[in-house]
Amino acid sequence: MRQAQRIEKLPPYLFARIEKQIAKLKAQGEDVISLGIGDPDKPTPNPVIEELCKQARNPENHQYPTSAGLLEFREAVAKWYNDRYGVKLDPSDQVVTLIGSKEGIANISYCYVNPGDINLVPDPGYPVYGIGTILAGGEPYLMELKSDNGFLPDFDAIPGNIANKAKLMFLNYPNNPTGATASKEFFAAAVEFARKHNVIICHDAAYSEIYFDGNKPPSILEVEGAEEVAIEFNSLSKPYNMTGWRIGWAAGNSKVIEALTRIKSNIDSGAFQAVQLAGVKALEECDKDIEKTCQVYVERRDVVVECLNEMGWNLEKPQATFYIWAPVPEGYTSTSFAEHVLEKSSVVLTPGNGYGKYGEGYFRIALTVEVDRLVEAMDRLRKIM
Ligand SMILES: *Cc1c(COP(=O)(O)O)cnc(C)c1O
Repeated sequence: MRQAQRIEKLPPYLFARIEKQIAKLKAQGEDVISLGIGDPDKPTPNPVIEELCKQARNPENHQYPTSAGLLEFREAVAKWYNDRYGVKLDPSDQVVTLIGSKEGIANISYCYVNPGDINLVPDPGYPVYGIGTILAGGEPYLMELKSDNGFLPDFDAIPGNIANKAKLMFLNYPNNPTGATASKEFFAAAVEFARKHNVIICHDAAYSEIYFDGNKPPSILEVEGAEEVAIEFNSLSKPYNMTGWRIGWAAGNSKVIEALTRIKSNIDSGAFQAVQLAGVKALEECDKDIEKTCQVYVERRDVVVECLNEMGWNLEKPQATFYIWAPVPEGYTSTSFAEHVLEKSSVVLTPGNGYGKYGEGYFRIALTVEVDRLVEAMDRLRKIM
C-alpha cells in the first residue's frame, strides 16, 4: 500500500511520544492530571439537550439536510451578529452551517488553493490552517506570532512577493494557543492588507465568547469593508460546551460562502437538522450559561497564573480563551519540559512546538479541569521545579 504524497507531507504527530508515556503511567496506576486537551469539561446547557431530544423525534429531521444548512440556523447566526456586534448579514447567502468550524477551516483551502499556492498561516497556531493548506496542495507561509508583538502577526514582515501570491490568510483571535486578543484596529489593518494584496481573510473566532474582565473581543466583520475580503468562522463548541455535537458556521463574504458551500455539497451533506435546531436554542437562549462558563474559567485562570508566578514565571493573565501559554524554564525545550513534568509529576502539559516551530520554547495549559485538580497539578509542579 502506498499512501498519497499529501498524507506523507503532513507534519509528524508530535504528541505520539507523550501519549505513549501517559498510557504507561496510567498502566502503573499513576494519577495522571491532563492539562493537555482543550475540550470543555462541563456539560451542554439543558435547554439545548431538551431541544435535541424533541427535534430528534421529528421525522422531518431524519432526512438529508441541505448543504448550506437550515435557514432557521443561519437566521439565528445573522441575528446573533446583529445583537452582538451590530453587523448585518443576509442569512440566505452570507452564512453557511458547518459540521464544527474545523470542517470549514479544512475545506476552505480546497476552494481557493491550487498546487503550489501560498496561504498565510499563523505560527504557533491551530494546526488545521496549515494542514488544510497542505491537503489542498498549497504551501503555508508561516507568520510568526511573537510575544513582544502581543502574539499578533507583523504584516510588514511578510515579503511583497509572498503577500501578492498568497490566497488565504488565517487569523485566530482570541488566540489558541497563546490566549492573545486582537483589537478592531488590528483587524482594520488586516483588511487593508487583504485589499492591497488580494488575499481572503479567514478569521477563526472560536473563542469569541470565552473572555474575562469585560473585555469583549471584536468580530473582524465589524470593520468597514471586511465583508468584501473576509469570512469568519465560529462554533458552538466552546461557548456552549458542545464540542461533541459538531456544529459551527462561516459568515461574511457571499462569494466565499458560496464556494465553501459548493465544496461541502460535494463532500458532506450538512449537519443533522436536529443538532442545528438545538444550536438555534443555544444561540437564542443560553447567554447566561456562557457567563457562568466564563466565571469558571476565570477562577481557574487566576489559580494557575498566580501559582506559576509564585514559582518564578512572570505571566500576565490572559483576557480570553481557556489556555495559559508560558515559556519553559531555562535549559529545557518544549518537549523535554513536557516529558520531565509528565515523568516526575504525572501532569500533562502540551509542548508548544505542537502548534508550530515558533511555539518552541513554550508550553500550554488547558483550564478544562476542576480547580482542585489544577491546585494539585500546581503543587506537584512546585515540588519538581
Ligand atoms: C476548538 C477550536 C475550534 C473549534 O472547532 P470545532 O470544529 O468547531 O469544534 C476552532 N478553532 C480553534 C483555534 C479551536 O481551538
